[in-house]
This record gives sequence, structure tokens and C-alpha cells, in this order.
Amino acid sequence: MKLHEYQAKALLSLYGMLMPRGGVASTPKDAWAVAERLSAPCVVKAQVYAGGRGKAGGIRLVNTPEEAEQATADMLGTRLVTAQTGPEGAPVSRVLVEEALEVERELYLGIVIDGQVQAPVMIASRAGGVEIEQVAAKHPELLLRETIDPVVGLRSFQGRRLATGMGLPVSMANSLAQQMIRMYEAFTAKDCSLVEVNPLVVTRDGRLVALDAKVTLDDDALFRQQDMAALRDWGQDSPLEAKAGQAGIAYVKLDGDVGCLVNGAGLAMATMDTINAGGHRPANFLDVGGGADPDRVATAMGIILDDPQVTRILVNVFGGIARCDDIAQGIVQAIPEARKGVPLVVRLLGTKVEDGKRILTEAGLNIRFVDSLREATEALSTH
Ligand code: GDP
Ligand code: MN
Repeated sequence: MKLHEYQAKALLSLYGMLMPRGGVASTPKDAWAVAERLSAPCVVKAQVYAGGRGKAGGIRLVNTPEEAEQATADMLGTRLVTAQTGPEGAPVSRVLVEEALEVERELYLGIVIDGQVQAPVMIASRAGGVEIEQVAAKHPELLLRETIDPVVGLRSFQGRRLATGMGLPVSMANSLAQQMIRMYEAFTAKDCSLVEVNPLVVTRDGRLVALDAKVTLDDDALFRQQDMAALRDWGQDSPLEAKAGQAGIAYVKLDGDVGCLVNGAGLAMATMDTINAGGHRPANFLDVGGGADPDRVATAMGIILDDPQVTRILVNVFGGIARCDDIAQGIVQAIPEARKGVPLVVRLLGTKVEDGKRILTEAGLNIRFVDSLREATEALSTH
């Protein structure tokens, strides 16, 4: 789960990192009021779950509260398309209004989990303000890294080593190291998978300030981060993904036309691989979960049916903990009279399989039952 920039900044400043003064606004009048309070030139920043806003017109420099109001009116209600959003863009329903700073240097700081060394790593670069992937591709020598021992945390000597490596004077290295340590404290306290400050700037008057902030939380830890989970902005996800997320169904929209309803993430991936190998394109990844009850299955089926690209549906369910009759009931419940003709290829196995098949057959759906995935891919071509 991602946080908006204004939420990420509130979090990081709670841990002692330094941010520009500012406030969030969801109306032009609010933006005017924030700018008035700051009484300085400001930046108005669109709040979306994506970076690359600067180049996409999502960040505007303004000189008066009236200009802040106007910039906000221009942005609110639009969809911002950046290099990271895809062509449909992301909806702007809030802006962050901040004092504009006079920037001397732009640096990059990021913490991610390095799967190879199985530890968090602090990445730093003197080439901040641009996408770090570009720096990695063109100037890998400008990327510095320190592996963090999870037992002791980031040590200040590591922070100083990164800071001096970025070319900061020793006098500044100490305070940057302190900022890094606070950043890592937030990273662990909130079970993050990414904390990124790009750019962290050195201002003309010599302060170190986080100009932008990005935080991604580990979804599997949200159960113990309820205050963070509550910050989720469902409007940023595609409607189908938001619906699935709220129902606790693992769903990823893809660009094919075969809707896939599967129980178990591994089985879902194997299903997608197999139908791909058979020359078909999945419309989605969907794991309805282990103990799927009829309502949950109906929600999942409804999401698949709501995808306009879906022309046929493959159900691949192994009834271990889940029961095939529950699955069947959910499917029947979800398919409205008008959609009964949609071709279904169904592979059901396991607990209560005969009951499940009977329920589906009696519902008068357009079904082809198959016993194996290979048969399923063949049926997708002919059914
Ligand atoms: P992103 O494009 O979505 O990553 O948004 P950022 O918040 O990183 O802003 C992009 C760029 O806008 C930064 O790298 C800065 O160059 C510029 N910018 C943003 N805020 C300020 C500011 O207060 N003062 C100055 N001089 N530049 C700013
Ligand atoms: Mn940025």
C-alpha cells in the first residue's frame, strides 16, 4: 500500500525528518488559506500515488495565495498522467501547498529491502531529483549503498560515509546521518517496503529538507498497522482493483480477455502460465483465497464480469479448505440472467465436487467442464 506525499511527509516528520512548511488542501479556497498562512512563494503539488509529477504538470510554482487557489482549481478533478501512471492517469482530489525553497543541491535517499542480502539497504546519490532508475542505468558509480543490520539499525558512521560520499562537507554529514537514522526508524516502525526521499535538498541557507517523500507499506503487515491502513485512498486504484482490495481478494488487472477465477496464489500463477502457453491471454490474476465462502466467490466473479475486456472465464478451483459447492453457489449467485451465455470453462476438483458440478449444471450456465488445465486451454479455443 502506498501513502500520498503529504501523508508520507507527516509520518517522516513525526520521526524527526525536516520538511518544508505546508498544508494539504482539497478545495481551491483551502489552498488559498494555506498559501496565505505561509506568506511566501509556494509550490502546489498534485497528490497522486505516482511520481514523475514535476514533468507532467502536477507541480506548480506560485507567488500569491490567489495563484495557489487558481493552480489548485486547475488540478482538482483532473486525472494526472505521468510516466508512472499509465495512460489513464490518476485522479487529483487533493494538493499539497508548501513554501517554495531555494534549492542549492538535490540529493537522493531511499531505503528498500534487498532480497539478496536479506536486509534493508540505504541507497544514496548526489544525483537527486531525477529518476533513480536512470541514474542506475547511466551513472551507476553515483549510487552509494549501505546494508543495514536489522539488529542494530543504521549506524551513524554509515550515514556519514554516505553523506561524504555524496560530496557533502563534514559539517553537514553529521546532520544528514541523523536524518537517515530517523528515516530508517520510520521504515521499521511502520513495516515499510520502501521509503524514498527524492529529492532531499540542500537549501541556499544550508538546511537539509525533504522536498518529496514516497512511502510504501508492506501489505502483509497492515494488520498491525491499522492507523496506516486507514490512510488508504481507494480512489487511486482502478475501480476493479479497489473493489477486490476492499473484499480482501488478491486481484491484478491484466490486458487479456480470459477472466480467471482461481483459489490459491500459486495455482493462479500456474493457471495463467498454462493458458498463456496455450495461446490465450489472461484478463486478470485472481486468487479468491483458501476458505472462500459463496459471497466472496460471488464478489470475485462480479469483478471478473465487470471487466469489459473479458470474453470468457476460466474457473480453476481445487477444493481443499474451500468447498466446491460453496464455489459453485458463489458463481451462480454472481452471474445475472443477462450474462448466462458467457462461456465458462470449469475445472473443479476436491471437496464436494459432485455437489458443485450439480449446482452449476442446474443453473443453466454455458459451461464446459474439464479435468485438466491442458484440456482447459483447448476448451478455451473451442468453447
Ligand atoms: P515528482 O516529480 O513527482 O517526483 O515530484 P517532486 O516533489 O520530486 O518535485 C519534482 C521537482 O520539482 C523537484 O526535483 C524540484 O526540482 C522541483 N521542486 C519541487 N518543489 C520545489 C521547491 O520548493 N523549490 C524548488 N526550487 N523546486 C522545487
Ligand atoms: Mn520526486
